[in-house]
Amino acid sequence: MFSKMTVEDVNVRGKRVLVRVDFNVPLASGEVTDDRRIRLALKTINYLVGNGAKVILMSHLGRPKGKVVDSLKMDPVAKKLSELLGRPVKKLDDCVGEKVREAVAEMNDGDVILLENLRFRPEEKANDDGFASKLASLGELYVNDAFSVSHRAHASVVGITKYLPSVAGFALKEEVEHLSKVKESPEHPFVVILGGAKVSDKIGVIRGLEEKADKFLIGGGMAYTFLKAKGLEIGNSLCEEDKLELASGIMDELSKKGKGFVLPVDVLVVKGFEDKDSRKVVEVSGIPEGYMGVDIGPGSVKLFGKELQGAKTVLWNGPVGVFEIDEYAKGTKGVAEAVVGLKRCFSVAGGGDTAAAIKKFGLESGFSFISSGGGASLEFFSGEELPGIAALMDRE
Ligand code: ADP
Ligand code: MG
Repeated sequence: MFSKMTVEDVNVRGKRVLVRVDFNVPLASGEVTDDRRIRLALKTINYLVGNGAKVILMSHLGRPKGKVVDSLKMDPVAKKLSELLGRPVKKLDDCVGEKVREAVAEMNDGDVILLENLRFRPEEKANDDGFASKLASLGELYVNDAFSVSHRAHASVVGITKYLPSVAGFALKEEVEHLSKVKESPEHPFVVILGGAKVSDKIGVIRGLEEKADKFLIGGGMAYTFLKAKGLEIGNSLCEEDKLELASGIMDELSKKGKGFVLPVDVLVVKGFEDKDSRKVVEVSGIPEGYMGVDIGPGSVKLFGKELQGAKTVLWNGPVGVFEIDEYAKGTKGVAEAVVGLKRCFSVAGGGDTAAAIKKFGLESGFSFISSGGGASLEFFSGEELPGIAALMDRE
């Protein structure tokens, strides 16, 4: 159960409500090219508008590094949001200060304002207390509806909660509920598929889920550190030399606990990332010198598919190959298809690149839930409560 108060637990009528959203959307020539993050927040915004609140939205966009960057102003976002809401959205030219205060003072119930990019100010990422208090002074209630930034102790996520009653929005609540189902009470068998470039990125997830999960399937760049730890030659494949011992330790520990730990049996290797014509499938025991693994092979896809049979819960984080290059995307696509093909299985994908891969294959609707948070979902499964969620008021 979600233990935090939400917008439904407080009176919002006539109140100035500051909402942290994640409108960090891709832009091209001044247009929003993917509005999914904006659409995620619509339920909360519409609820607040419908209940007579004055809605003040705040977000970051891109990486302006604490300075005003014209191409990262929020105007295209305000335009897209206005279209989606079917009502005007006033975009301000700053996020704090006199002009902002004046504009907020003139708001009527049901009005929507979008503040300028929070990260134009270095104080946002620094979680500066003075800045947090200035932001807070604009509103009477704070709502976090941005799961994907809730692992960050930033002023608009954590600092601000010291100054205002703070509750969750619908998107945040729903995401935490979906992910909690996997983390706290998964139906078994529960299979975790991990990939991506680095072991070090995913150690936390293995540690966080080693009790609950029944089986781990490992692909991607991270698999080679494990293969090498088992004594195999891995050529020029990615390897974290300083993690070899840790990798052995994890495999021993999981095997003592009776958990499955499945590595690829074959891989696609090339002489260099760009040298696509050199590609060939080899057994993991026969990775030639001078070659690097860029994808799992067809035998591994088949094996993973078999290991997934009967799973009632699947968490997938990390592509099993360099899916950005079509020639190296077959393994990741095969794994995605295997998950989508499972019957009566609660399947969750986490991680920015994993979500991008699923989108590339057009398989989004086949998953029960795709997390909006890359780093946030990794930290969520690693165990600790995210600081931006911990800071919200508890339900009685
Ligand atoms: P996510 O964002 O879903 O958490 P990661 O960021 O951990 O995933 O990993 C994604 C990256 O891992 C992708 O850019 C992909 O190209 C890379 N990757 C996957 N397999 C390999 C490999 N064998 N060698 C190098 N990089 C890989
Ligand atoms: Mg990533």
